[in-house]
Amino acid sequence: MHDLIIIGAGPAGLTAALYAGRFKLNTRIFERISCGGQILLSPAIENYPGFPGGISTFDLIDKFKKQVEDLGLEIENQSVLEIIPEGKFYNVKTESGVFKTKTVIVASGAASKRIGVKGEDKFIGKGVSYCGTCDGPLFKNKDIVVVGGGDRAVEDAIFLANYAKRVYLVHRRSEFRASQILVDKAKTTPKIKFILEFVVEEIIGGNKVEQVRIKNVKTSVESNLFCQGVFILAGINPNTEFIKNILEINEAGFIIIDRRMHTSKEGIFACGDCVEKGLYQVISACSDGAAAADSAHKYLLKS
Ligand SMILES: Cc1cc2nc3c(=O)[nH]c(=O)nc-3n(C[C@H](O)[C@H](O)[C@H](O)COP(=O)(O)OP(=O)(O)OC[C@H]3O[C@@H](n4cnc5c(N)ncnc54)[C@H](O)[C@@H]3O)c2cc1C
Repeated sequence: MHDLIIIGAGPAGLTAALYAGRFKLNTRIFERISCGGQILLSPAIENYPGFPGGISTFDLIDKFKKQVEDLGLEIENQSVLEIIPEGKFYNVKTESGVFKTKTVIVASGAASKRIGVKGEDKFIGKGVSYCGTCDGPLFKNKDIVVVGGGDRAVEDAIFLANYAKRVYLVHRRSEFRASQILVDKAKTTPKIKFILEFVVEEIIGGNKVEQVRIKNVKTSVESNLFCQGVFILAGINPNTEFIKNILEINEAGFIIIDRRMHTSKEGIFACGDCVEKGLYQVISACSDGAAAADSAHKYLLKS
């Protein structure tokens, strides 16, 4: 019987593991792909405190991992398929077995929504990005296309205008889902040009992005925008398929938690990008992970 099973070894899961190790909980960590999570899609991180000038994401994750392994914990390459309650305990089912535990921390993160157009996969890291606040500084004085109509898209368009020569905000509707205050700010930002009722049909280039082909949703008229960057900010999808029958989630699939990372099931905690919250970044994932481990520890002490 384990004290704790952590699902996912991104920043949230690794920080939860660090705290669990220091609480001396009998812990297992299951990661389905490889340690590090989404941040490894970006070569460097510049907004994680303690590293002026930024740090390579591989170096940062290596440090997280070493800190966990130094406590004698191992990150096991296993995908969690299901959590099955049994009395006040849980059976965590993976491809290779079923593991009984008193508590679970779900730190399964999320994946950026793809728009699924030709050229999107080919140019990831070569002009296509899913995070304006992260990669914006790499596009100084460049022309950029931002795709999306929610808060994150408009917020990032405003942020990107600090660096770019011009920002084309391409949105399929004439109205925005984003809050009006952000839309108003974008409208008064001279570098942002609104391209409304258009969708991106294709991302085109040689080794790097050179242009996008867009289509008007009403007239089907097509045209091309020359640009060096395409920021796809159509939202993120939480990796919560495997728990949606046992935990309360919102309509977008994010796990509903309270301020101490408790989920709707006693003994199951959740943290990071898989939960419903305001800021989806490494720093907040780490903070959530620490709080989740602390709550699991307190739960174990009183049960
Ligand atoms: C391109 C890009 C650039 C970014 N740049 C920045 C930046 O500069 N600064 C910043 O602060 N944030 C940045 N972010 C956001 C940041 O990466 C995320 O907020 C952060 O990684 C969330 O951490 P997490 O641990 O909650 O989730 P994730 O990083 O998504 O990690 C979750 C882990 O769980 C694993 N997992 C999922 N399901 C299962 C399962 N069933 N069984 C086992 N394992 C499972 C996944 O494989 C993954 O490794 C960026 C994101 C992207 C996509």
